[in-house]
Amino acid sequence: MKFATQAVRAGITPDPTTGAILPPIYQTATYVLDEIGKDKGFDYTRSSNPTRATLEANIAALEGGQYGVSYASGMSAVDAISRLLKAGDHVVSSDDVYGGVSRLYNQILNKFGIEITYVDTTNPENIATAIRPTTKMIWLETPTNPLLKVTDLDIVSQIAKEHGLLTAVDSTFATPYLLRPLEHGMDLVVHSTTKYLSGHNQIIGGMIVTNREDLFKELKFVQKSVGAVSSPFDCWLTLLGLKTLPLRMEKHSQNGMAVAQFLEAHPNVQKVIYPGLPSHPGHEIAKRQMVAPNGIPMFSGMITFELVGDVQTGINFMNNVRLASLAESLGAVETMVTHPASMTHTAVPRDVRYARGLTDSLVRLSVGIEDVDDIIEDLDQALKKA
Ligand SMILES: *Cc1c(COP(=O)(O)O)cnc(C)c1O
Repeated sequence: MKFATQAVRAGITPDPTTGAILPPIYQTATYVLDEIGKDKGFDYTRSSNPTRATLEANIAALEGGQYGVSYASGMSAVDAISRLLKAGDHVVSSDDVYGGVSRLYNQILNKFGIEITYVDTTNPENIATAIRPTTKMIWLETPTNPLLKVTDLDIVSQIAKEHGLLTAVDSTFATPYLLRPLEHGMDLVVHSTTKYLSGHNQIIGGMIVTNREDLFKELKFVQKSVGAVSSPFDCWLTLLGLKTLPLRMEKHSQNGMAVAQFLEAHPNVQKVIYPGLPSHPGHEIAKRQMVAPNGIPMFSGMITFELVGDVQTGINFMNNVRLASLAESLGAVETMVTHPASMTHTAVPRDVRYARGLTDSLVRLSVGIEDVDDIIEDLDQALKKA
């Protein structure tokens, strides 16, 4: 089956009792045994649920993986992977990872003796240099949030093999429509399904996909033991969103490219970061790595840009957008904007923020699937007023 067919159909069979074309929402905690030792494959929903199993099969197929494990949020999926480690283990990670990931490692997992080193993984030599005798895993994000740094997965996979390390990639920004990390030798792919995979701002969810049976068994054990599972209704809503993932990613990417080009030519914009632009330092890697199933490179709808001005310019811009929504999330049908300096990163000292490249007037844009003329018109009027 090709990708678009899988999105609509993989793992989904008509309900055997009614013929319902959509999988039922199995809103149940438990399952009745025929007799002791004889169930129908399900005993208790924390361990397994038919609606959740359908979602796991669907996303696993899209990633070209054998096994999917679903979680209550992207962060609980990230946390589940950390439970493959033990005290004394060390992780080498991309430096511009999602803020929640560094918070988990720096403020929670550190208490349990797990250490992490952040390096710029766009230069894979930095990974090799950071590896210690206790290193167990390489954690990557590509493209990263919010600076959209692109890492070459084939090279990192080689480094990991040479050192016998586990590899995990947060592929939330690319989605399996544009990037299938398992095909690049990665062991684990992680998603916040909250974003593009569900696509409509309707749920919070996470997913891990792997081809390694040993890791799958460990993760299933973690899922059942910790219990951070997604509800049947959330799984069902995610399945509904996934059916249009190919259509949405085409449109997000088309609109994203048009908006990035518009911004790059705008006099009030200092800098545009978009992997689809030749000006992006990772453009050549992205062109090879982020490829739609039809073979055409595509770069999704995430754009980060810097205005000409200061922190107030950023705030003025945000307060003047009309169509775009001021919101912290991303990857949904609605265009959304975030201003890290006044929204997500207010607690971070300015010099620390700057050291990370998060300047005062930096804006992150999640381009939706509205008509691109309306999106551009809105950004243009807000830029002129900023
Ligand atoms: C949102 C996000 C997460 C966390 O996912 P939640 O569903 O919000 O828990 C992790 N990684 C990336 C890249 C994200 O964008």
